[in-house]
Amino acid sequence: MSMWQVGLAALAAVVGMVVVGSSAAALNAGDDNEARARRFVAKHEATVKPLEIEVGRRWWAANISGKDEDYRLKQEAETRLELQLADPKTFADLKAIREGRLDDPLLARQIQVLYLQYLARQVDPELLKAMLARSNKIEQAFNVFRAKVGAKELTDSDVRRVLRTSTDSLQRKAVWEASKGVGQAVEADLKELVRLRNQAAKRLGFKDYHVMQLALGEQSQEQVLKLFDELDALTRKPFLAAKAELDAVLARNCGIAAGDLRPWHYHDPFFQESPAVFGAPDEALFAKVDILKVCREFYGGIGLPIDDVLARSDLYEKPGKNPHAFCFDIDRNGDVRVLANIVPNEQWLSTMIHELGHATYSSKNIPASVSYVLRMEAHALTTEGVAMMFERFVRNPAWLAALGVQVPNPEAFRQRAMKIRRNHLLIFSRWCQVMFRFEKALYADPEGDLNRTWWDLVEKYQGVRRPEGRDAPDYAAKIHIVVAPAYYHNYMMGELFAAQVHHTIARNVLAGVDPATAVYVGNKAVGRYMIERVYAPGRTLDWNRLTKHATGEDLSAKAFARDFSAK
Ligand SMILES: [Zn+2]
Repeated sequence: MSMWQVGLAALAAVVGMVVVGSSAAALNAGDDNEARARRFVAKHEATVKPLEIEVGRRWWAANISGKDEDYRLKQEAETRLELQLADPKTFADLKAIREGRLDDPLLARQIQVLYLQYLARQVDPELLKAMLARSNKIEQAFNVFRAKVGAKELTDSDVRRVLRTSTDSLQRKAVWEASKGVGQAVEADLKELVRLRNQAAKRLGFKDYHVMQLALGEQSQEQVLKLFDELDALTRKPFLAAKAELDAVLARNCGIAAGDLRPWHYHDPFFQESPAVFGAPDEALFAKVDILKVCREFYGGIGLPIDDVLARSDLYEKPGKNPHAFCFDIDRNGDVRVLANIVPNEQWLSTMIHELGHATYSSKNIPASVSYVLRMEAHALTTEGVAMMFERFVRNPAWLAALGVQVPNPEAFRQRAMKIRRNHLLIFSRWCQVMFRFEKALYADPEGDLNRTWWDLVEKYQGVRRPEGRDAPDYAAKIHIVVAPAYYHNYMMGELFAAQVHHTIARNVLAGVDPATAVYVGNKAVGRYMIERVYAPGRTLDWNRLTKHATGEDLSAKAFARDFSAK
């Protein structure tokens, strides 16, 4: 613990007693709002900060060990934190402070960020219980559901294998339809969950739950719609061209005309990913790569060293350990770690570059002068954007070569990688259009003709023809609507942010090189730019102000679209 922390904790403990023991009405009449706001922030740091750090440590321990006891401790810590943030009296204080006058912009910003954090926890406890019960019921239905074709039960990977490999349209159709059965199984519960979520949002003063979720992330439907309309207009043509090329291959594989393609002819049940028709990656090449060495050299070389992060991290497979990958800023004071399960292949090189990208955008590189409340990324979309921006180099042979990984046939490798990347981004962007617009419609009118709305959107944005006469709740087969509501658009906005920052680096930091050939390797000016223009502000700026600070413009689809216009 630093002296600064000790001093602050002691001060906050004293001030905290005063605030705890008083209500809004009992505060001195002469007390100005500014002083009240400072006391609130100090109290938050004294009470909530230790709980947040505790949650981070417990989360880490549980996900590394997998032990029941560790998970119990994690849950206890999470409950203590949630209860603290849910306290209605504290929230009333905060709300009153926010409505009053605050001249110091940094103080006002802290109050605004705290307000959103506490507001999200002000849902009526009975409603919250009902919502949790309903969403758990749906999650369980998803987990136990097996698609049934005739008497045969299929797992999720069985379904995907058929969709990836079968050349028989009738078999594909039967398996696809069976996989959508989960939609019918959960439809009624999902609609009830939507009604409950809307009730909760209305009690907090929002039109519906979708509007509320966006507002909690400092976004509005109008703002995201405008961005998505622009994205649609700028990428519709390249998307249709890429899809026509894919459709020709898919139709040929099944011996049908492209006009007869239906949803079951794509390689995943929602056409959210690109069908894998351009061959497998060169795994022999990546099996030989020293992943940590590449990561150290790349990030160290651009002036964003991550050796300290790796030293604190837990990087390899263990019994009971969470099998995925995460980056954690435990204390917003430099204790940044990565949980990973590295095996030598392309996917893990890509994952490590991604997670360490998050690690560079953390309290490591946000100065200590930024207060605890704001010492974090501007928004989930900006940190995802940074991680994705770095991650995409992994399929670039010039980048690999600069880090000592020689690709045997670089031009063929590059062409294939570019095509796969282009298809991935274009297809994913159309899928995000469907998800954002559908969820908006779902919460605006849960009693509307949702089956039809879903297929109208799929036809319009994904260019996939609806099955003749189909009237089924196919949207309800997408679990993200239950577990990560109104969130998908952030993945897409992260991609837009990644492209816009990358184009800015190519233009301003790398003296106008073609963004397609900019690889950053060994250039410390890139790290300086990232620290100064992207990381240092932390959350003192919201996601759009940060974008403007970093790139000179509001977030837009222009840079993203430019990558598809040339070739
Ligand atoms: Zn990420």
